[in-house]
Amino acid sequence: MGLKFSKASDFAQVFVKVLLYGLSGVGKTWAAASAGADPARVLVALCEAQGRLQVAQSNPQATVVEINSWGDWLELQKLMGMKHSGCSGEGCDDCRDTGLEMRARFDLLVVDGYTDLQRYSKLLVETASDRPRNNQSLREGVLGMDDWQVVGNMMLRQFSGLRDVPIHVVATCIGEEQQDGDVLRARPYLQGQAKATVGQFHSLVACLRTRADDQGNVERYAILDSPNRSVIAKGNIRLNAIEPVNVADWISKVLGQIPPQVDAPSAPEPQDNQDQDNGQGSNDEGQQAQEGAAS
Ligand SMILES: [Zn+2]
Repeated sequence: MGLKFSKASDFAQVFVKVLLYGLSGVGKTWAAASAGADPARVLVALCEAQGRLQVAQSNPQATVVEINSWGDWLELQKLMGMKHSGCSGEGCDDCRDTGLEMRARFDLLVVDGYTDLQRYSKLLVETASDRPRNNQSLREGVLGMDDWQVVGNMMLRQFSGLRDVPIHVVATCIGEEQQDGDVLRARPYLQGQAKATVGQFHSLVACLRTRADDQGNVERYAILDSPNRSVIAKGNIRLNAIEPVNVADWISKVLGQIPPQVDAPSAPEPQDNQDQDNGQGSNDEGQQAQEGAAS
């Protein structure tokens, strides 16, 4: 026991955990599978066979493992050395030294996606023998409130395992969107506690969307910060509130491998730069501290 003090700059490596969510067809699988700095060191846990095409197109060098049940997921979890139910982490006899081989082969684990894992956990809960008695009489496929809480809690345990595993993670999730006058409301489609706390388990949470430009070309973009909190999002001081969908670029910026964009030579007018500097004045200290930590 005893507290462990260390210089932030001495951290051997920091791992980024990204959640991409959005409506079906917005390009989540594509964006996630192409998020690796080295495309050959990406492992895609594919929970939905339909994603095969997008993975093959966006990153043909990726290794794909198909996850067709909760049991498959638990097996992968073990191979990756993720924390399991009842794991004490460091010094746990059940998982000591597991995951080393897998994590030596990959830099990035893609989980595509939470929606399917949630579906697998729902199947498990439906058939669980310790389910509350009243819920047994519900029609097949229908869960009671407390059943959904169990599903939410199962997902929370996965988030926590993914947060703690020493590898970059990019996960996808179907999103729910609603246009409320001028306000867009969007959030990942998750149950119970998992929905409210998803941001605590991820370094970045991005809502992916598309828009058409004047020529009718479809442009993909990501919302990483929502000042009025109407869109569930979690950004980073090195990223803009709206970013192009280039997750590999986000990760390297967050890790400090690319200078912040304020210094980019393409910045148009000197005056613009000054405005930005003024606007960010109050953040200077935080930014410097972060840069120190990342370099
Ligand atoms: Zn363990």
